[in-house]
Formats: sequence, structure tokens, C-alpha cells
Amino acid sequence: MTARGKFATTINCMDGRTQLPVIEWMKATFGVDYVDSITEPGPDKILFDGNSGLVESIKNRATISVQAHGSQVVALVGHGDCAGNPVPKDVHFEHVKKGMETIRSWGLPVKIIGIWLDDVDWRVEQIAVIEPN
Ligand SMILES: [Zn+2]
Repeated sequence: MTARGKFATTINCMDGRTQLPVIEWMKATFGVDYVDSITEPGPDKILFDGNSGLVESIKNRATISVQAHGSQVVALVGHGDCAGNPVPKDVHFEHVKKGMETIRSWGLPVKIIGIWLDDVDWRVEQIAVIEPN
């Protein structure tokens, strides 16, 4: 049974500055009622590396969001001034795009979005998309 309401999923940083901007953007962009949040420090780096136990944990949580809540879109977030992944913006972009490939390898029936969040005005920028298979 699927939960009531439309859900989307974010794999976001634990950084408290990143939560609300991404949730509001996801609701406005995809017309969802709720956004399930999976948070880690520097999740773009974790999914770029692709081989820590944390990847399996993130995968398990994303799968619950998709299977129990019927989420059809999963967003991976990189942001400026990230304590968990303190690299330049262009490296974040590389990590987000490679991390999206890690998400694709899970075989979930979802659209995958790459998001950049700047640390000046915390405005969301969509930087890449992978359509569902
Ligand atoms: Zn961060």
C-alpha cells in the first residue's frame, strides 16, 4: 500500500542550511506534498566514492522512500561551504554527476536530479538529470 500524498526524495547534506531550500524547491518543481530527506555530511562525496557502507545505508533509505511512499524522483545535493566535502564548486559538480550514476545503478524507477546549492543566497540550481529507464 502506498502512503497518501505525493512524495519525492532528497539525498542532502546534514547541514541545516540546506534542508528548507531544497524541500521548498522540490515541492514547487515536482508538485509533491512531502519530501523524504536522507542526510549525511557531504553526500555527493559519499556517492562519488561509491564504496563505503554508507552507500548501502543511503540505498536502503532511498528504496524505502520509493517503495513505501511511491517517490518518483530522487535528488542528490551538493552545496558550497560544505564541511563534509570541502572542495571547490567544480569538484562538487563532478561528485554530484558521478554520484547520480551510483543512484542509477540501484535500478529504482525514478528520475534522478542533481542539485547545486550556493552558499551565498542558498538558491537551488538543477545541474543534471537522468530520466527513468
Ligand atoms: Zn555539507
